[in-house]
Amino acid sequence: MSNSNASTAISIDVAVIGGGQSALAVAYFLRRAGIGYVVLDDQPGPGGAWQHTWDSLHLFSPAQWSSLPGWLMPATSEQYPSRANVIGYLTEYEKRYEIPIRRPVDVTSVSRRETGLLVSTDHGEWLAKAVVSATGTWGHPYIPDYPGQGSFEGEQLHSAHYSRPEIFHGKDVLVVGGGNSGAQILAELSQVCHTTWVTLEEPTLLPDEVDGRVLFERATERWKARAEGRPDPAPTGGLGDIVMVPPVRDARERGVLHSVRPFSHFTVDGVVWKDGSHAHVDAVIWCTGFRPVLEHLRPLHVINDAGRVDVVDGRAVLEPRLWLVGYGEWCGFASATLIGVMRSARSAASQIDQYPTSLGNSTL
Ligand code: FAD
Repeated sequence: MSNSNASTAISIDVAVIGGGQSALAVAYFLRRAGIGYVVLDDQPGPGGAWQHTWDSLHLFSPAQWSSLPGWLMPATSEQYPSRANVIGYLTEYEKRYEIPIRRPVDVTSVSRRETGLLVSTDHGEWLAKAVVSATGTWGHPYIPDYPGQGSFEGEQLHSAHYSRPEIFHGKDVLVVGGGNSGAQILAELSQVCHTTWVTLEEPTLLPDEVDGRVLFERATERWKARAEGRPDPAPTGGLGDIVMVPPVRDARERGVLHSVRPFSHFTVDGVVWKDGSHAHVDAVIWCTGFRPVLEHLRPLHVINDAGRVDVVDGRAVLEPRLWLVGYGEWCGFASATLIGVMRSARSAASQIDQYPTSLGNSTL
């Protein structure tokens, strides 16, 4: 636990940690409820993880299906908004709702005090009656272990740090991972170099006419059925299945959109496949996902063995003054999407509003 003196901290009803779409959605509902809050984000500018995705990334749903509460994302010239469109939207959203964001402020720890939770940062401390953690997953890329990985002398890059294909021109590149990141990065890399797509199992390619809207509708149906104890109404087509956006369709037309099962181990300059054959590899792009960024919550001892926090409707079981929003299904249905985070954000703000200490009236 931090030794900091809570009496020098700025008192606030709610501290929201993070400054991406999840934090903004929570801020919208806190503002609407008239609750005092501050948003603390370690980035220099708006946009959260969208500032760091690869240059050509486009959403797989049209603008109006990629919106935060209160204000629809303006229609874009292309069918699917680019990352620049999303960053522009989030920037305007902050201004529109006058969200009090402090940047760059890195939250180093959250610890218990009798009168609240002490939020310690590299720019001072806040003593909050409630904390919402909305730090996303981008800062914690996941790379699986493969035998011999340490001896491989080629380049290894996670999709979190991939920006454009040109630097791989003419090389032998493995793209590992069967989700949308893997498919999209493979699609553009395969135009400039020799690619091999490695996936644990055969990826599910959705029909060409299906985009993020349909996925979201199917996921909603599934969520409702589960809640009501009914059988799964849409057994295929999850949020992780591959949407055939134009570059991925183009890769299919060029005959490069096929995958192979994983290799057995790395060598100094390549990999050995399960049949014993060797392939030369210059670079590996790991499109293998992310884990929640929760290091700042360590002093609270709320992080479980799976690297998550046990929650009921977004509220931490072991710390009733803490809510988690946006990390994935475990803290709210579709909460890691632009349109899906609304439900979790609204629920967190409404629970905070009804919190027994009555945030508006109690004194710290
Ligand atoms: P983030 O955007 O990561 O924001 C968290 C913020 O908190 C960041 O600014 C981070 O720097 C900051 N932070 C972290 N730790 C601290 C700390 N200790 N102190 C202070 N600040 C901190 N969603 C869709 O709806 N449609 C799509 O088409 C879509 N496509 C996607 C494609 C890709 C390749 C990826 C990776 C994601 C996609 N998503 C899509 C998913 C989703 O929209 C993003 O993951 C989203 O960025 C999550 O928002 P967030 O606010 O929870 O987290």
